[in-house]
Amino acid sequence: MKIDEALIRDVVTQVLQEVVAGRGTSTSGADSSASGRWAAPAATAARSFIGRRGQFDCVDQAVAAAQTAFEQLSTRGLEQRRQIVDIIRKICSSQAVELGGLEFQETKIGRLEHKIEKLVALDHPRVPGVEFLRPQTYSGDHGLAVIERAPFGVIGAITPVTHSLPTLACNAISMISAGNALVANPHPSGRKIAAEGVRRFNEAIFQATGIDNLICVITEPTLESANAIFAHRGVSLVVVTGGPAVARAALKAGKRAVVAGPGNPPVVVDETADLGKAARSIIQGAAYDNNLLCIAEKEVFVVDQVFDRLMDEMERAGAVRLRGKQVEQMTAAAFVEVGDDKHLAPAKELLGQDAVKMAAAIGLTVDPRTPLLFGETDEHNPFVDVEQMMTFVPFVRCANVEQAIDLAKHYEHGYRHTSLIHSNNVRNITRMGKLMDTTLFVKNGPCMAGLGMGGEGYASFSIAGPTGEGITTPLTFTRERRCSMIDDLWILGQPRNDA
Ligand code: NAD
Repeated sequence: MKIDEALIRDVVTQVLQEVVAGRGTSTSGADSSASGRWAAPAATAARSFIGRRGQFDCVDQAVAAAQTAFEQLSTRGLEQRRQIVDIIRKICSSQAVELGGLEFQETKIGRLEHKIEKLVALDHPRVPGVEFLRPQTYSGDHGLAVIERAPFGVIGAITPVTHSLPTLACNAISMISAGNALVANPHPSGRKIAAEGVRRFNEAIFQATGIDNLICVITEPTLESANAIFAHRGVSLVVVTGGPAVARAALKAGKRAVVAGPGNPPVVVDETADLGKAARSIIQGAAYDNNLLCIAEKEVFVVDQVFDRLMDEMERAGAVRLRGKQVEQMTAAAFVEVGDDKHLAPAKELLGQDAVKMAAAIGLTVDPRTPLLFGETDEHNPFVDVEQMMTFVPFVRCANVEQAIDLAKHYEHGYRHTSLIHSNNVRNITRMGKLMDTTLFVKNGPCMAGLGMGGEGYASFSIAGPTGEGITTPLTFTRERRCSMIDDLWILGQPRNDA
């Protein structure tokens, strides 16, 4: 990622000092009620802009405004779409420190520096824009056919708390590149930052193009407003990024849905792996934003032959190992029973928190720079089974690579989202790739390399496994249209007799 790391470090230090001063405790979030420059803009945005700059408290009005904006956009050329997308990218990167700070303060999960980085990352060709919409052509004896990508119209987007503004902004970049307008229903715990980002995008788009409300946001989002978007006749396509409940709800919406659902990415490490690189990769991926990424390494299956050496490499790379009783205590602290069936879910107070705070939950003090905790568990530990988004990663000892791959398959739960392997045995890699059948399959690197950050390919914050679109791009949000000229315009052919 091309960012000024020294600048970000300085600003992060400053922001953390402010955040800590405002709330008087750890670095993992701040009291959003605190008055200060991080709280004020988001709090005022929703109140004073209702009905314009994309701020709406009513789904009907939001859809109507987005439809008007869509119609206006439809009269402009591709160059104007490029300009609008560039405005969104530039706001994300140039205001990343402030917006990332607001998101961190409101959601109280993840790591501030990664909130900032995720916004900066949107201002990069790795996140595709208008240039992705290449037409297809067929030409021959019977003339010319051009297949082009048309917009849907107004798209309903449901976004998660784990990356509230980055997902919304990334959706907006893809959807507007394709010529659409959108109405977003953010997670209630990330609604203020979503509204503030949307207000800033629309303000700048309006100044530059005269179009308002191209990106609309429901300022007080609820399950009811999400369902109203699903059911709305003015919404042509719904795009959800979230966990199992919203994925199921979208699939019942009665209209086309792009579903970027949950994951529980397993990692396999076999006896041929570069263990040092494997350890560093697991830490880089799992510790990023305190394991909030849906693609992040959540559980590791390691062949017995190299298990102890990998554990040593993890410690050498800076992670802190928990042993025996400590793992039991961590497991007891990290999960709660929920629902009528009393299934286990991550304890909210530890989800997306720093390793220091996780350690403190079992009375352990670790170096403040500790990126990740880890330890040996058996396969039945809830850290393996539940999509946990925490800075403790379980390592399960396996007799051989076959068992490791089989367990990975089982605990990915058929989401077909993301899986990873560290291996130099092409047969093992191939076997796992085939069996897992996941949208992302990353070999010998951290999870984010699968999205082009340290690897090849493009990036998105919405990875649509259940409905099959994969890593979403502007093409995902288009309809195919064909334009055919019969018998003419094939300029390579013989001159026609009637010419
Ligand atoms: P979440 O499922 O709690 O919420 C996601 C969004 O859906 C929110 O806006 C929420 O208000 C809404 N929602 C939840 N239940 C709903 C229902 N029954 N009807 C309508 N709307 C509903 O998820 P989260 O905690 O915000 O985010 C984490 C989850 O999202 C994880 O499961 C993670 O894997 C997944 N995720 C997936 C991707 C991807 O690209 N596939 C990306 C990010 C996050």
